[in-house]
Amino acid sequence: MTDLKSMTPEELTQWCKEQGQPAFRGKQIFQWFSRGVESVEEMTNLPKALREKIARECAFTPPVVERKQVSNQDGTIKYLWRLADGNCIETVLMRYHHGNSVCISSQVGCAMGCAFCASTLGGRVRNLTAAELLDQVIFTQKDSGYPISNIVLMGIGEPLDNYDNVKKFLTLVNHPDGVNIGMRHISLSTCGLVKGIDRLAEEGLQLTLSVSLHAPDDETRSSIMPVNRATGVDELFAACHRYFQKTGRRISYEYALIDGVNDTPRHAALLGDRLEGTVAHVNLIPLNHVEESPLKPSTHVAAFQKQLEKRGITATVRRRLGSDIDASCGQLRRKAMKAAGQKDRG
Ligand code: SAH
Repeated sequence: MTDLKSMTPEELTQWCKEQGQPAFRGKQIFQWFSRGVESVEEMTNLPKALREKIARECAFTPPVVERKQVSNQDGTIKYLWRLADGNCIETVLMRYHHGNSVCISSQVGCAMGCAFCASTLGGRVRNLTAAELLDQVIFTQKDSGYPISNIVLMGIGEPLDNYDNVKKFLTLVNHPDGVNIGMRHISLSTCGLVKGIDRLAEEGLQLTLSVSLHAPDDETRSSIMPVNRATGVDELFAACHRYFQKTGRRISYEYALIDGVNDTPRHAALLGDRLEGTVAHVNLIPLNHVEESPLKPSTHVAAFQKQLEKRGITATVRRRLGSDIDASCGQLRRKAMKAAGQKDRG
């Protein structure tokens, strides 16, 4: 099987030539994929022989809505998609005044093991292909009817642990013949894979890098994020500094406030020491409680924010969208898996 849906128009053009087809067919095929066709029959401007060839040779299956939840509070829509191989992933559509934003998954499950995160509980099953990344944007737009202007890679999985496919996805989604979303409208979030951050810096993309920091010191960070045991906070900040030097793009730090773990005045002071005088933005997130975890949301969010702001560090508290629909971090997939497990056990 050829994964035509993960190809750029240029690669599709090459493929068409190899099939003895005129070059312009490549762009046509790409445009059909970008519109979210669900069968080859819909590609009406292609000759029948080529359509048959595509149907025979191409892994075509679009994602299927397994579950869809719409928030009564703010219109957030959460999709649980079933992929061709039966695995499920989540995508969340968030509606803001400045446009609609989609939060997509990068892997089935996650290997990073963060203590507060539901996505990682079952480990990593596999990477998503570029086409599976792209289809989340295309089919969320198609099913919801809301045009999407922003993308955040903040769903299930660690994007820099699936580097090549994520890079390919960025090329596809940014392509003028396709969905055509500008790099400045895309954010990529990482738990801090230093090699990946350095590689990304070399690409010179205008996207926003978000780093899931969650603690300013090794002791605290290693206790909740296993990734920190391999590369500590010093190394992480050094990579962030290199990233900024190279790209000139301000880094956004995610900080989920967890009761008694990382939310004390001492933590705020240490974070201040790290960030004072740097070009950074801190996103404070009240922890979303995950059923399987003993960790609780902090009650000191405002005080933490104030302490940072006093030192001239921009810190915003993220508005919680879709909290009535499990709209965060692998919770819906987790629920579906548990329900399926219970069924299996009879
Ligand atoms: N693996 C990437 C992207 C996916 S997670 C990363 O780590 O950045 C998206 C964001 O949600 C991360 O900042 C993650 O740390 C955060 N997150 C995970 N579980 C959370 C929870 N229970 N409450 C609040 N934020 C959470």
